[in-house]
Amino acid sequence: MIKSVLLVNLLFLFLGCSKEKDKGIVPVYEVPDEFQPLVASFIQEGAKRGDTLTINNLIIKYDYSMNTSYCALCNSLSLDPTVQKIITVNPNVRCSNNAEESEALIFHELGHCILGRSHNNQLLPNGDPKSIMVEHNVGLYAPCFYPIPSCEDLSYRRTYYLDELFNEQTPVPQWGQ
Ligand SMILES: [Zn+2]
Repeated sequence: MIKSVLLVNLLFLFLGCSKEKDKGIVPVYEVPDEFQPLVASFIQEGAKRGDTLTINNLIIKYDYSMNTSYCALCNSLSLDPTVQKIITVNPNVRCSNNAEESEALIFHELGHCILGRSHNNQLLPNGDPKSIMVEHNVGLYAPCFYPIPSCEDLSYRRTYYLDELFNEQTPVPQWGQ
């Protein structure tokens, strides 16, 4: 009898400890200055679309040991607030040619880390990616890097891709038919 009471007590002690430990997890917000405007803009674009986001759990950092297969990575799609979210950016590879591509890269990662979205490689009827959550494409709504006639300025597509980022049910845009 004493033995089992002791066991129950020990169990409580153990559970009590792990509960305290959970409570002690404080998410970290640590974003380098160069990425702050993008995080602020992500919150702003979400708010415009009725998605009120508070981002207090996010680390963005460079990883000089990354190989060149990735531009950036998010560590977890979990929406559990006790899971620290970390976006790792690869400084060893040039992934964007302009502000729009840098935005698409970070918004894609924030789509994983903050919205919990996974990849979506589906296509629109015209063959263009359906979502900013497509893999390996930061040029979805990029302007022309060089002003050459064969280049199409895609910046008019930004509204759709951001709409879809915050709402997967966004209808197919006219240009995507
Ligand atoms: Zn991704």
